[in-house]
Amino acid sequence: MDLKFDLENPVPEIQQVKFGGALFSVLRLDTIHPEISGNKWYKLKYNLLEAKKRGCSGILTFGGAFSNHIHALAYAANKFGMKSIGMIRGELTEPINPTLKYAKSKGMEMHYVSRSQYRLKTSENYLNSLKEQFGDFYLVPEGGTNLLAVRGAAEILKGIPAFENVCVAVGTGGTLTGLISGGSEKINFHGFPVVRDGSLSGIVRDLLVQCGSQKSNWQLEQKYHFGGYAKFNDTLIDFINAFKASTGIPLDPVYTGKMMFGVINMIKEGKFGSAPNVLVIHTGGLQGISGFNKRFGNLID
Ligand SMILES: *Cc1c(COP(=O)(O)O)cnc(C)c1O
Repeated sequence: MDLKFDLENPVPEIQQVKFGGALFSVLRLDTIHPEISGNKWYKLKYNLLEAKKRGCSGILTFGGAFSNHIHALAYAANKFGMKSIGMIRGELTEPINPTLKYAKSKGMEMHYVSRSQYRLKTSENYLNSLKEQFGDFYLVPEGGTNLLAVRGAAEILKGIPAFENVCVAVGTGGTLTGLISGGSEKINFHGFPVVRDGSLSGIVRDLLVQCGSQKSNWQLEQKYHFGGYAKFNDTLIDFINAFKASTGIPLDPVYTGKMMFGVINMIKEGKFGSAPNVLVIHTGGLQGISGFNKRFGNLID
């Protein structure tokens, strides 16, 4: 399969799942493509088209060393015939991890920036100095969220039958915002933050306003971040392994594992009613598992 960014979207599979007494459906964005999976394809699509239209010399972005966004952007830019530059948080450690190795193999130019410098990622002065250094690049922010990303994510539910509830993991909020703006007003959207960030609901609200939407058919489920971004414990790891063994569906420890844990708990607690009608969006992130296992000792099967 070959995804062409200027053509049609892929058609993801919907899988019925039963786990621990909970019954629901999963939208498998993780299987739309072997290399660029999940929500990141949708978020990058219109950004790449825009970068090309503007005639930019390349695409520059920011990300952590295990970032799904870095992985996806490296592939997509390469496929699109554009140069990519990755500003990676922290020092270079050798040997580089599988995410960065992959990005490098797709031609991404890597620059390692200290944590203090990385914090300048949205500062106009800093970005201008990068333009002097690297030329007239197209900037995709950390995590890939901007209005064009939201517009891409708004297409995820196109052609998908309506469910009463739609659940998705939330990092920067771009994907959730897109789903809400593009989806039916009758759907209740549940975002599961994987970060400890009290400003997220404000961010989603602002993004919605910016894309001209006043919808309020959404909420954040704040109880399932497991302590914060990329934090985990045995309960989460055991759940991810048991879920895969029983359903065949792999989950990642940073995003989809936490969200799925939350969804199943909420179904069991009756939070979606007595006959739950739930679509869970599998946003991918599976590329991160090998790096996670290398770091923490093969915790995930
Ligand atoms: C990036 C990512 C998300 C979060 O998307 P946002 O638009 O940043 O909220 C969710 N799941 C996976 C697997 C991701 O890689």
